[in-house]
Amino acid sequence: MPVLPIHNAIAVPESTVYFRPEYYRAMSGREPMKDAKVVLIVTREAIAKNEITPESFYPVGVTGVVTETSLQGFVSIELKSRVNIEEVEIQPDRTLNLKVSRRAEIDDLDPEDEERRLTAVKEAVLAFSEGKPWAPALRVFAALWTTMGDVAAGLSPWMPGKNEERYALLAEDSRARRFDAMEKMIYEYLELMKVGNEVRTAQEEDHQKIYREAAIKKQLEYLQNELDELHPENSSDLQKLEQKLAEAPLNELARKECDKVLSRLKQEGKNSAEYGLLYDYLDFMASLPWHKEEAKEIDLDEAERILDADHFGLEKVKRRIIQQIAVMNLKKLQSGSILLFVGAPGTGKTSIGQSIARSLGRKYVRVSLGGVRDEADIRGHRRTYIGAMPGRILDGIQKCGVSNPVMVLDEVDKLSMSYNGDPASALLEVLDPEQNANFTDHYLNVPFDLSDVLFICTANSLDTIPQPLLDRMEVISFRGYTPTEKQEIARLHLLPKAMDAVGIGEGELELSPDALQAVIDDYTREAGVRGLKKCMDVLCRSAAVHLVRGGEKPLRVTAENLRELLDMQPLPHRHVKDAAKPGVVTGLAWTPVGGDVLYIETMLTRGSGRTVVTGRLGDVMKESAQIAVSLVKHLFPESAELFEKSDLHIHVPDGATPKDGPSAGVTLTSSLASLVTDIPVPPAIAMTGEVSLQGEVKAIGGLPEKLMAAQRAGVKKVFIPAENVDDLRDVAAEVKETLEIIPVREIEELLAHLGIHRTEPTLIAS
Ligand code: ADP
Repeated sequence: MPVLPIHNAIAVPESTVYFRPEYYRAMSGREPMKDAKVVLIVTREAIAKNEITPESFYPVGVTGVVTETSLQGFVSIELKSRVNIEEVEIQPDRTLNLKVSRRAEIDDLDPEDEERRLTAVKEAVLAFSEGKPWAPALRVFAALWTTMGDVAAGLSPWMPGKNEERYALLAEDSRARRFDAMEKMIYEYLELMKVGNEVRTAQEEDHQKIYREAAIKKQLEYLQNELDELHPENSSDLQKLEQKLAEAPLNELARKECDKVLSRLKQEGKNSAEYGLLYDYLDFMASLPWHKEEAKEIDLDEAERILDADHFGLEKVKRRIIQQIAVMNLKKLQSGSILLFVGAPGTGKTSIGQSIARSLGRKYVRVSLGGVRDEADIRGHRRTYIGAMPGRILDGIQKCGVSNPVMVLDEVDKLSMSYNGDPASALLEVLDPEQNANFTDHYLNVPFDLSDVLFICTANSLDTIPQPLLDRMEVISFRGYTPTEKQEIARLHLLPKAMDAVGIGEGELELSPDALQAVIDDYTREAGVRGLKKCMDVLCRSAAVHLVRGGEKPLRVTAENLRELLDMQPLPHRHVKDAAKPGVVTGLAWTPVGGDVLYIETMLTRGSGRTVVTGRLGDVMKESAQIAVSLVKHLFPESAELFEKSDLHIHVPDGATPKDGPSAGVTLTSSLASLVTDIPVPPAIAMTGEVSLQGEVKAIGGLPEKLMAAQRAGVKKVFIPAENVDDLRDVAAEVKETLEIIPVREIEELLAHLGIHRTEPTLIAS
């Protein structure tokens, strides 16, 4: 029986192995013949034929039958059963003669299990071969595999593993354990190959990754489309965005930019940091109102009716608006002069903006500029900036959804400069009709046409508005309301609105005129009506509780129960003092929240001619104080010695704005004159005006507010610069009626009115 020594090969029962005919011939010394019976034995070492000894072999071999001799140049042997090698005899031609006995197998393999696992292994091998150049050959080969031994033997030339491990398969008596071991070996080999392949191809893959990703995305898109077609209701965000962009009336530049960004968006994965940014941008672009609105003809009477219905008084403002509408009608324009409403808080500046929008039949949007320090707040951030956002102007446009809203830019006086650029100059660009048709917000990166927007700005004070910005605007002053006007506003507007807001009907709440007057006089101190509005709201809430508790209808608010219903302390009275004292004179000041009265106090103390100025206006007042001292010395020469021997202390209380300093000139001079002459000036006499070294009384600003403050404080007589007489037109008739207003040209004229004449001074510090 031909004996074939093998080394490091898998040869187990129930498998087919292949030999080259030359090897068969050389080892067995015979010609391979079909059906010939053979024995395979395993050498311990890889040795040459002439080195073989009887000890060269492991003790277990396997018998086989030659089934083919021509198969593609191979001899195929079907292995049958294991044998114990009893004796090895080496022939002179170095072929082997064996004495063997059959070795029993433990048949513990469940055939069903065997079948299932074999199929799985074959599939795994075939799957692994997928895409490899040798796959077709393997498939031919694999078609012949009927046992696990076939697979293991088939793969054996490629599988790593030691001779002992392979022999151990043959030496194993249990069929099940052998099966397990071979299965494990094969799977391990496949894994190893995969990892090996991965390492080898990692670099290639890096390159391929990009293409692969693109391909996957294409596939995804295709699949998504299919899905979307099945479920049109949940089409993806991106598609919706694309749709939205396609429908948006973008201009050419904007379309180009959007297309660019869209293609970048598609390249980005959904989880990338950039994705959200690009998405938000496109969404913003698509929702901007690119479409131009037609200019409408406005009915002036109707517009007037709306303005009157919303706001009491404010004739000057309303007249100006009507003029603007008329011009817009004639010129078929949607915008015109930029109006700047200046006045104390609560005087209706913002709310009339809303009513202008209503009268024009246009949308209203309010953009607050208070505290804006960064240019990017107006002009937007560049998109490269993390957290980039559009500026407030375009944000407002997007929110209101039309290209021609009435845009109220609130608090332009609160813009400030910072190291981040000058927001005022950016605003200048927004407001400039020459430039704003092409306003470019950095975030958008393409121009947006703002020329149809009707801009209205509001401010409390003109002082802090940069001049170039101020030059662009037409200033309209809101001077504040008189007590009578406040009564009307509360009765006609604030109270009905407040009642409506809490659901109180007519006939359920009654506010007596006395009570209303008391609210205005004792619970609010303001030029506008914000505090008054709050009080009306509080009254209505108290009334709501009363009514819900089943209280009597209507709830009558009187001067008596007012305090309880408002649940507030009345404000301390700010009435002018009763007692007059030499050296103390009532002045009038302008502040951003309206006018106010203040007392200028002067005092001479023993000293050496120094002047001390205290109070908030300290520095500004110093110059005025020098002028006043010189004037008084000039007018009252006898006092010069007094000033030399004394220190002069001037105190100006808080309240006024620094810019208002000079307008206290007449008050300061009067107070000094009163001091040196020891003639008191009654506190119910107030005054305002600048004074020159020549003693001329010069014009001041904010006259209406100052006179109103005087009236509120119970002043009876006011001296004003003759140069300001024209401004009295803006002063409410009611104020003019209650005050005795005396225009003066010279300080001496004023002093004469006060009864301060040149007399012998009373020496305080002699
Ligand atoms: P501002 O912008 O000047 O600070 P607002 O416009 O916010 O003031 O006005 C405050 C409140 O007072 C608003 O509710 C407004 O409707 C009301 N108001 C102000 N002036 C008038 C007025 N003349 N007639 C009716 N309501 C007014």
